[in-house]
Amino acid sequence: MSETILEVQHLGKSFGTHEILRDIDFSVKPKDVTCIIGPSGSGKSTLLRCMNLLETPSSGEIRYHGTNIMDKHVNVPKYRSKVGMVFQNFNLFNNMTVLKNCTVGQEKVLKKSKEEAHKNAMMYLEKVGMAPYINAKPKQLSGGQKQRVAIAGIVAMKPKCIVLDEPTAMLDPLGRKDVLNVLHELNRQENVTVILITHYMEEVIDIDKLYVMDDGKLVMSGTPREIFSQVEKLKELRLDVPHVTELAYELQKEGVPLKNGILTSEEFTEELIRVRNEGFNVNNSR
Ligand code: ADP
Ligand code: MG
Repeated sequence: MSETILEVQHLGKSFGTHEILRDIDFSVKPKDVTCIIGPSGSGKSTLLRCMNLLETPSSGEIRYHGTNIMDKHVNVPKYRSKVGMVFQNFNLFNNMTVLKNCTVGQEKVLKKSKEEAHKNAMMYLEKVGMAPYINAKPKQLSGGQKQRVAIAGIVAMKPKCIVLDEPTAMLDPLGRKDVLNVLHELNRQENVTVILITHYMEEVIDIDKLYVMDDGKLVMSGTPREIFSQVEKLKELRLDVPHVTELAYELQKEGVPLKNGILTSEEFTEELIRVRNEGFNVNNSR
């Protein structure tokens, strides 16, 4: 059996008679980057909120290193410090400086000394490129900068896992790139397990495991390549695929013998060169 950090088993959640999540099963391996995509309203946020006990599941179990977190003996604040959460917005205290935003959790929850909290915060603010802004207030920052501060603040608490609910939804393309780069770097350098909900397909290309939700259920799981090989199915679910994947798919439909599940422009170019070198003529006049 492979080791898992988080395991969701038969999870269900209803609000009154409205069943939002149905029989959700999945597991997350330590140090993996796991992404969840799915149409709006499919239950992604509710699932993440259950995983952080911001919502109480109606049925099923969530296990963190084998322990059911709904067990009444579980110390919830401690669990939350191990599994940090970043939302679309509202992650920072507007009346506190950048630095204070990154030390307050360490001091209040982890009871760290001011000096240690400061040292940790500076280390991660440095990593996310926000050290020059320690005295700024959140309203002086761009959306991408705010999210990088939020991530630094969470990671300074040394969580094992960081869970993010569309953290880049409000950001411009550059801000999105910065935030994603920071996440991948923290994942690689600090071994933080990452669980990311996003609706930007370019954010889920370079990851370990991808889950697709629809109408409260997990309907697909696999590597990005496995998932994006199934363009028709994703379209039925009203989901985008990466632009190059779509382009390759359209060319395949026109008879160009490209492989399935192309994810990057480099792969796409390589494939085009390969089919040309193998004698395929794009005008179909071999
Ligand atoms: P997603 O994040 O995939 O867009 P959500 O988890 O936010 O989906 O919402 C899934 C469904 O649950 C929606 O139909 C939404 O209206 C409903 N829902 C979410 N939170 C509540 C709540 N607190 N009370 C009632 N219904 C809710
Ligand atoms: Mg949501």
